[in-house]
Amino acid sequence: MDSANLRLTIDLTALASNWRSLAAASGPAACGAAVKADSYGLGAGPVVSALARAGCRDFFVASWAEAAALGAMPDGARLAVLHGVQDGEMATALASPAVPVLCTPAQVAAWRAATTRPCDVMVDTGINRLGLARGELDLLDGLAIDTLHSHLACAETLADPMNTRQLAAFREVAAAVPARRASLANSAGIALGSDYAFGLTRPGIGLYGGVVGATPAAGVKPVAGIAARVVQVRDVAVGDSVGYGATWTAERPTRVAVLNLGYADGYPRSMSAGGCIFAGDLACPVIGRVSMDLVAVDVTGADVPEGTWLRIDFDLVRAAAASGRSQYELLTGLGHRYARVYQ
Ligand SMILES: *Cc1c(COP(=O)(O)O)cnc(C)c1O
Repeated sequence: MDSANLRLTIDLTALASNWRSLAAASGPAACGAAVKADSYGLGAGPVVSALARAGCRDFFVASWAEAAALGAMPDGARLAVLHGVQDGEMATALASPAVPVLCTPAQVAAWRAATTRPCDVMVDTGINRLGLARGELDLLDGLAIDTLHSHLACAETLADPMNTRQLAAFREVAAAVPARRASLANSAGIALGSDYAFGLTRPGIGLYGGVVGATPAAGVKPVAGIAARVVQVRDVAVGDSVGYGATWTAERPTRVAVLNLGYADGYPRSMSAGGCIFAGDLACPVIGRVSMDLVAVDVTGADVPEGTWLRIDFDLVRAAAASGRSQYELLTGLGHRYARVYQ
């Protein structure tokens, strides 16, 4: 399939504006950026450049492979690797200008044995995902720690008591472990308020137009847009069905446009009920089942000849509600057949 028939538009101006909103909401704390998973599928290279131009200085990837793929960072930018130094990665880590976020006792011991260079450290305060347990903090004695991190489990729910429990635990950790600064909040954590900001925040999804948390930063703008082309237009008579499983049947004469977009492009099969595509301002519902490479929409009353580009409704909140996928899954699942257009 010709990638030129699918378009992923990334609005770098909106991205920079979202970063400025999250930086403002972070108060005096520095505001970084999670650019793991190729910047949530939007392209880590262009995203890092645009955010660095906006003033962002702290970037996070998951792995050394992602750090290597980014290549040289902009002047003054710092890159940290969230999974730390796993078995067999020490030589790669020492050869890289990126900094590991050490997250297990074994990683701390290996780093200590290999170098006196500064590192970041992740401490667990309740999510029980990555990080040293609070009973293991002695292992950090004498280590040159730049940023001490922890991560919130329930930040999307303002009233969840886990938030205040983790905040109290992290305050104790930050008071006990010498480091240049501390960092706790992701996008939803920023929305919990200034208590959670410490010295550095680490938003991801909010930069990319995701709306998360009880009081999301004001004015979050959509960043990703997708568009596909009409491959074929057909008129379907009353009683005829459309698509696999014949799950949709015309109750009136219906003009159907078939677009070259499917679940292989991250347009979930669960959009079969609730998905929507715009012909100009007209919202055209998805009909029948989304297939791997194609989707059918009811364009009755719209002028959309074959070859027309149509904008897909990919508003993250609406698309998440319509598909049952998270905003994170929608972005990171977009697939490889798009021509990416940065603007
Ligand atoms: C991915 C990640 C973030 C960013 O989270 P968002 O919910 O996308 O803002 C922050 N911190 C850590 C440790 C992460 O893994």
